[in-house]
Amino acid sequence: MGDAVTLLYKHLLACPACAGEIVFQPGTASCASCGHVFRKTDARDQWDLRLAVPRARTVIYQLGGPPMAPTNLFEKLPPNPVGEMRDWSAIDPQLIYGNRLTPELITYFPKAQSSDDWMLDLGCGIRNFETICKEVTGFNYIGVDYEGEGPDALADAHALPFKDNSFDFIISIAVLEHLAFPDVAIEEAFRVLKPGGIFIGTVAFLEPFHMDSYYHMTHLGTARTLEHAGFEIVAMAPNTEWSGTRAQAEMTLFPGLPRFAKRHMTSGVTPLSKGMWAFRRLLHKGERTANMRRLVETTGGYRFVVQHPMSQTGAQV
Ligand SMILES: [Zn+2]
Repeated sequence: MGDAVTLLYKHLLACPACAGEIVFQPGTASCASCGHVFRKTDARDQWDLRLAVPRARTVIYQLGGPPMAPTNLFEKLPPNPVGEMRDWSAIDPQLIYGNRLTPELITYFPKAQSSDDWMLDLGCGIRNFETICKEVTGFNYIGVDYEGEGPDALADAHALPFKDNSFDFIISIAVLEHLAFPDVAIEEAFRVLKPGGIFIGTVAFLEPFHMDSYYHMTHLGTARTLEHAGFEIVAMAPNTEWSGTRAQAEMTLFPGLPRFAKRHMTSGVTPLSKGMWAFRRLLHKGERTANMRRLVETTGGYRFVVQHPMSQTGAQV
């Protein structure tokens, strides 16, 4: 029986257990090196490339270093100086709701250089961002997630089924807080991204516990985790439209109300708080009263743009 499987991205795949070659047959696949067996799911052309049995993974930490100093942290994410700021007035509001995309973040999307360049949507869910990613970047798109019918393939972010240096661009919107071992997942993103490649994402901070979230990160935690994997921080910012108060109001405090009503319930809090901070700033000048301090203490989440350096292979290898 010949190999009738015509996955467009088959050349990018590798065994998530041992990095060996995956050999596909209709309906089943296996690793040529370790024998790990993978199956096709009931969804259209979707393969289950998650680990079928647990595996060990070592992460090496350098202890004793200086405390984290945030680099390229902005009060509000500036547009990419060499990017294109389009008119996004017609953008689907669902794409920019909460801790998702913003017009500024989209200006950092890289552009495909050839028709064989690929991007990965890590934790793609129902593929909300596929259309805008393809339209803006021109990349071939792969979406993976741990479950659901939307992903091209089911995959575990802690053990991605891709070869090293497979992608030019990775996007991961509101996903990292849902991972049991975010350091491992970010190392995996670094591994499958090409040198020079861009990783764009958002992560929860003061959002409530939601959808079995594990780690909600501060700006220091986000930066440290990304830099530990080897990434350089291009730009990072608190989500100024999505305060912790608003996130709490819309995600948990008032179940059953429509979204506009939930938002209205606490809409006076942020202006009042800003006023108090401004008053405190009049009395006491300094870092503790700065607007950046207010933002990092109150934001619902962070957005980041990082780059895999051109000439470096991982900080810890
Ligand atoms: Zn294997």
